[in-house]
Amino acid sequence: MSSTIVAVSSPPGMGGIGIVRLSGSEAKAIAACLFKPHSIADFMLAQSRRMYYGKIIDPTSGTTVDEVLCVWMKAPTTYTGEDVVEIQGHGGMIPLREIVRLATANGAVIAEAGEFTKRAFLNGRIDLTQAEAVMDLIQAQSSAAGKTALRQLEGDLGAHIRSLSAAILALLAALEAWIDFGEDIDPFDKPAFETGIKKIEQDINALAASAHRGQIQRLGLQTAIIGMPNVGKSSLLNALLGYDRAIVSEIPGTTRDLLQEQISIEGIAIVLNDTAGLHDSDDPVEVLGIKRSKTALAQADLVLLVLDSRLPLRESEKELLLELQGSRCIIVLNKSDLKAEICQEELCSLVASSTPLIRTVAHKSLGIGELQAAIAAVLIQIMGKTVSGDTVLLTKERHLQAVEATLHFLRDAHSALEDGLPPDIIAIDLRAAWQALAEISGETTSADIVEAIFRDFCIGK
Ligand code: GDP
Repeated sequence: MSSTIVAVSSPPGMGGIGIVRLSGSEAKAIAACLFKPHSIADFMLAQSRRMYYGKIIDPTSGTTVDEVLCVWMKAPTTYTGEDVVEIQGHGGMIPLREIVRLATANGAVIAEAGEFTKRAFLNGRIDLTQAEAVMDLIQAQSSAAGKTALRQLEGDLGAHIRSLSAAILALLAALEAWIDFGEDIDPFDKPAFETGIKKIEQDINALAASAHRGQIQRLGLQTAIIGMPNVGKSSLLNALLGYDRAIVSEIPGTTRDLLQEQISIEGIAIVLNDTAGLHDSDDPVEVLGIKRSKTALAQADLVLLVLDSRLPLRESEKELLLELQGSRCIIVLNKSDLKAEICQEELCSLVASSTPLIRTVAHKSLGIGELQAAIAAVLIQIMGKTVSGDTVLLTKERHLQAVEATLHFLRDAHSALEDGLPPDIIAIDLRAAWQALAEISGETTSADIVEAIFRDFCIGK
């Protein structure tokens, strides 16, 4: 029998109320040792899902610790699938910690990080994608991230994975019947089998292709603001944010490190990375900043290349423009309030015709609306109808790895079929494909991976 666990489930710090949660078969009995309800003689007599007002009293000293509301929720229809008690006390750490201490003195053990959700998973209340969604929902920084996490929590990714798993299992069953009964049953319908594999391959391919969108939805569009020193990158960051975050100075090289801030467009987070100006430098701090800028550039979903329209294009800018030809990029022609020296024809010859070109006066916040509209257009181009949140998405690297492994085994099964290999060989590949896919929902996930997933959770969740 597993232990009864306890933890403070509300965030640390001060608040109107704070919640201590217990889960396990002894939750009610342990709570009854500390909690003296006002309306009934003993908390053991409490009804499930009914809130009771009363006091937490230290059973050894008889002193009152806090005035609280307490609810017992009977297994199995609870968050963890076990008996759960939630005690709502005053939201300071001292009374809450004292309640936890009294619970442990009466038989509870302190919960590990994520243990409540882990128990929900182990008791079959939720699958692994839903457990991950709990964490994503708590950490969501944009409405899109929240919406995606909620859909996953409601089980849409898990359901989609299960339907694909079922389709693989159906093929496997047909194959195994053929292996077991050979010619005694209807002849094996090879074309139908091949169509079946192809259809699953297509669906899994579509799922793999959704991983990048899922990442953007969850973590935001990674956007790098790059350009030579003094072109107005920091001014542009401030204008996009609507407040002064970065230091703006006419002295080149002021931004020596990477600054990261976030705005929201179409409900999706746009993670703006203001980089150190890309140029040659001997200053070791600046060199480090420039290195980080290059990493941000390599990882960016979108690049805002800022040019100073007063000046003709410099060699390093031309090189950068060539380097960026394969990337999603918006050219920001800043300082467009001053007399332009930049050669527009030359610039246009170096960028793809589809690359938007936006004129701004960053320090006066002019042209920022146009720039936001251009960013929104890029978003819609990448996300398609995902922006409205109506498609199933992969949201984690772990999911993508499993999907790629599934595809690999499905392709092997497909070519084994085409090469006329015996059915048991095809069955081995199909079984491996099913196993890889079922890792996403947790049916075949190893204990180590499950441990690692829950380790990232916070205590009390
Ligand atoms: P960074 O080094 O690329 O981050 O450039 P900053 O944002 O620090 O700006 C460098 C200088 O250019 C500052 O003195 C800004 O006030 C000025 N500046 C920025 N944008 C504009 C603009 O659109 N027009 C004009 N005239 N000056 C600007």
